[in-house]
This record gives sequence, structure tokens and C-alpha cells, in this order.
Amino acid sequence: MLPRVFLSLLFLLGCSTTPPRLASDAEIAAAEAAPLSEYAINGRWNEPFEPFNVIGNIYYVGTAGVSSFLITTPQGHFLLDGILPQSAPQIISNIAALGFDVRDVRYLLNSHAHIDHAGGLAGLQRASGATLVASAADKPVLEAGDIGYGPSAGMAFPPVRVDRVIGDGESLSLGGVTLTAHLTPGHTAGCTSWSMPAVGADGARHTAFFHCSATVAGQALVPESYPGMVEAFRATFAVVRRIEADVFLANHDNFFALQEKHARRRAGDANAFVVPGELRSFNARMEAAFEEELARQVETGR
Ligand SMILES: [Zn+2]
Repeated sequence: MLPRVFLSLLFLLGCSTTPPRLASDAEIAAAEAAPLSEYAINGRWNEPFEPFNVIGNIYYVGTAGVSSFLITTPQGHFLLDGILPQSAPQIISNIAALGFDVRDVRYLLNSHAHIDHAGGLAGLQRASGATLVASAADKPVLEAGDIGYGPSAGMAFPPVRVDRVIGDGESLSLGGVTLTAHLTPGHTAGCTSWSMPAVGADGARHTAFFHCSATVAGQALVPESYPGMVEAFRATFAVVRRIEADVFLANHDNFFALQEKHARRRAGDANAFVVPGELRSFNARMEAAFEEELARQVETGR
């Protein structure tokens, strides 16, 4: 029999967490060059879009179908979402086209660990050297590069190194700008929304809310795709209902009428993205769709 001390040492070695692995250059390059899925093509997930100023220090650097937001400060920037692996080079060139540098990104954030929002993070982490911040529940998915549940299971993306775990109500500050995390699970177990103050061109103060998403998106609610999923959705609808924000931003173009608002912004409307009540009505719409889908799945057994 092995001495107890030796056994404990073996146990400790087994548990000693090897630091999370950031994908290699070769893995990132291969994923960036991979053909797009049918979902990606239909959703214009990788179709180029003109980068532009949304309001204050918030910039859109995403594609036609999926968002990525750059929040600039004099001491470096925040970048929210990496879109697909194939989108990272576009995001980097969009940042450059606006006169900024990806190497000045200090914090890399993620709304949730699905390939269309997290796929490009590894490339962006490598290009920026930024601290990647994620929720505890989405962290293992980001580090594995595969969610393991729902329609995105098996759609692998280059793994990232999560440097810091953020909890509900915690914030990140940089250059006088503070972003606050709101854990809004449902769509994924670690779905994270963010809020921040934004100042309009007229000097008026606003609150921007970057919504993580609350669609069921073809996932099983019966039985739950992950334990506590139904409760998580309902709690999130209640949380978001209480949030006051008049600049509603989301991660798919159709959620927040990106094209239409961008056209108005381009035509000179500095407040094109200021729409009081839009977050509330979006939340109500998502909640109704969720309850309808849940009832359907309960009735049909899936
Ligand atoms: Zn998703």
C-alpha cells in the first residue's frame, strides 16, 4: 500500500490545474481559413460591415450579422465579442480603420460562449495580449472551445485563456470608463450582459446595455440542456425588466435594428441608438417567445 503522503501528493498533482491553453498560431490560422457553415452564410455572420461610432466612446467593429463592440479609453480599450474565428482579422482591421490599435485592447469580453460570439476570441487574444474576462459558467466552455450542449455543440472554435472570472454586479474600470457585468443566464449558462454610462454628442448622459441574448435558439428546455435552465431564463427576464438603459445594444443585427440605426447614424443623427423603452420591449418579446416555446416543448415532450 502506498504511504498516505504519497497518495495525497498524487491527488494534488492530479488536481493541479494546468494553465488554460490559448490556441496555437497554426490552430488559429486554420480556423480563420476554414469554410463558413451554412448558418454563418445565411446569417451574414462574416459579411463585412462599415465600422462606426455608435455613441460616445462606443464603436461598432462587427460584421453585418454579428456584433463586436470597441469601447475606447485614453488608457486602452475594451473589446466585447470575437464573432467567428474567420471574423477576427476583420475586427482587427475595423479597429484600425477607426484609428485605433488592437494592441491597445486591455480587456477582452464575451457575451456568451457560442461559436458566433466566442470563435474569434483566441485570434484577438493573441493579437492584443488582452486580459480575457468571462463568467464562471462560460469559462470552461471558452477554454475547451466547445460548448457541449445545444445546437452549437460540436462546433469547435480555438480555445482561449480565461484570465479573470467576473461575477454578477462586478465591474471593470479603465481610463475613467467602468463596465458592469450582469449575469443573465438562459441562452447559455454563463450568458453575460454589460452596462456602462455613455455621453451623447449633445452632452446628455445615457446608459448603454449590451444584451447577451435570451433566445431559446433551438435548445431543449424539456429536458433542460443544462440543469436549472428554465429557472435561469425566468430569473434573467425578471432582472432585465428592472434595468434602466436607453441605448440597447445586442449581438445579432436583427435584435437591435443595426442596419436601420446605422443608416440614421450615418445621415448625421448622433442619437440614432438612443431608444428609451427598447430594452424593455425586447425583454418582453423574448420572455413571451420563451414561454411559448417552453409550453410547446412540454406539450410535445420536446
Ligand atoms: Zn448564442
